[in-house]
Amino acid sequence: MIRVVVNGADGRMGSEVVKAVTADAELALVGGVSLTHVGEDVGVAAGMQALGISMGNNLAAVLDTCHPEVAVDFTTPDAIYENAEICLTKGVHMVVGTTGLTAVQRERLGKLAAANGVGLFIAPNFSIGAVLMMRFAAEAAPYLPNVEIIELHHNNKLDAPSGTAILTAERVAAARKQAGAAAAPDHTQESLRGARGATVEDIPVHSVRLPGYVAHQQVLFGGQGELLTLRHDSLDRKSFMPGVLLAIKKVSGHTGLTFGLEHYL
Ligand code: NAP
Repeated sequence: MIRVVVNGADGRMGSEVVKAVTADAELALVGGVSLTHVGEDVGVAAGMQALGISMGNNLAAVLDTCHPEVAVDFTTPDAIYENAEICLTKGVHMVVGTTGLTAVQRERLGKLAAANGVGLFIAPNFSIGAVLMMRFAAEAAPYLPNVEIIELHHNNKLDAPSGTAILTAERVAAARKQAGAAAAPDHTQESLRGARGATVEDIPVHSVRLPGYVAHQQVLFGGQGELLTLRHDSLDRKSFMPGVLLAIKKVSGHTGLTFGLEHYL
């Protein structure tokens, strides 16, 4: 049994992780961290039966008390760097779903993980369909010179653009570069700043935030007289759980940083 602590256990994603870990015969949920539901049962906070585990609000103290092998983090972009430092320094493997870490921060944390002999797994998207969407986008990139990304999320998402949109743009740009393919020039003059979206690797990225969405993305390619649209929809947070469970089981076998679920598939 792999002992697991969930940080952000009462959040939208954390609650699903609590349910998924509890239902998995190879995993044992041993602790949960919440800022606002301190002392409450982690199962009850996640909307299920009581599990006899009360939540703490101090990550370091919970790790010291519960002795997990793996900590799963679904908290906030502001908190994730410090959370990771705490876990990795204490020799706890980490699975990070929280978005917002920069490439420099990921590398720095990867070195810290390696120095402490533990695994650090970070995925901007744990859904299998989203990983496939990124792979197909990279495959199409050398053949179709125009590309734009539209990502759509619920209106409580704190960061924009999404980590998935950034990674997709990076993968498309890398695939183009590797194939020696050129991007189509964009001659549009914005009469209103931001009208063409933000750019990641010169690829326009548009972020939509509306109540009701979970996590959705379209990658729109254009060539001569044709369009190709790749679309992925996470309709329920359950879509992320197979990837999260896989990462929890594999992270201890990969010391240092692993970035992206495709490395574990
Ligand atoms: P959420 O519902 O707002 O939950 C956030 C959780 O973090 C809550 O439990 C909250 O505790 C806790 N928290 C807030 N501030 C904190 C702090 N300073 N230190 C420690 N914990 C803190 O958010 P969510 O929708 O679950 O999303 C969480 C993260 O996962 C976001 O970054 C989101 O973009 C990301 N995400 C990733 C994926 C993926 O596949 N990688 C998928 C979906 C979402 P309290 O409730 O007690 O305040």
